[in-house]
Amino acid sequence: MSIKDNILNIKEEISDQVKLVAVSKTRSIDEIKEAYNSNQKIFGENRVQEIVEKQQLLPDDIEWHMIGHLQKNKVKYISNFISLIHSLDRISLATEIDKCAKKSNRKIDCLIQLKISSEETKFGLETSLLEDFYSDIQKYENINIVGLMGMASFTEDQQKISDEFSQIKELYDRMSLKNSKLKILSIGMSDDYRLAIEKGSNMIRVGSKIFGKRSY
Ligand SMILES: *Cc1c(COP(=O)(O)O)cnc(C)c1O
Repeated sequence: MSIKDNILNIKEEISDQVKLVAVSKTRSIDEIKEAYNSNQKIFGENRVQEIVEKQQLLPDDIEWHMIGHLQKNKVKYISNFISLIHSLDRISLATEIDKCAKKSNRKIDCLIQLKISSEETKFGLETSLLEDFYSDIQKYENINIVGLMGMASFTEDQQKISDEFSQIKELYDRMSLKNSKLKILSIGMSDDYRLAIEKGSNMIRVGSKIFGKRSY
């Protein structure tokens, strides 16, 4: 199946309420162009250098999302064009995003990345710290918190993944009730986006299901 077919199939399957982020990390400009020509306008990357290079070479109406762990000293390279940062998980990073956004005269939309998996290696804010973190970052005038992001454990255990998605959905519901600016729940990848949507996801991040298996 072609990239185009894969995108059309996923879009047909999901409702209009769910946004599809095509995760184009490691993919070539030509592959991204094929997706773009299939009317896909949102792309997600996890490395700063890669997203900067691609942004320069590809059309201006693409919405670029930073979905991976972000180092403070690299924020300045993406702050003038990034549409959404999915991986805000610490105050020091928020300070830097706010500073760079101010310089670019922008307000940058961000999701708070929560640690919902029990795995050691995953980034993200501890869920117990969410409320305090959310109030703390209200002071940053050039950051717009628009929702939450999470990554489920890397496991075949569907029940475990389902529990982790339920956990973040519950937090999302509780927070968005009080804060009307919270509108995005970014959960679900190639292997678990159906489950994520069942659990209330309205933004899925899909890579291999669109572009095929990655070879690093
Ligand atoms: C790579 C990546 C994805 C997409 O993974 P696939 O399994 O290829 O769909 C989604 N989210 C994040 C944060 C990623 O790094």
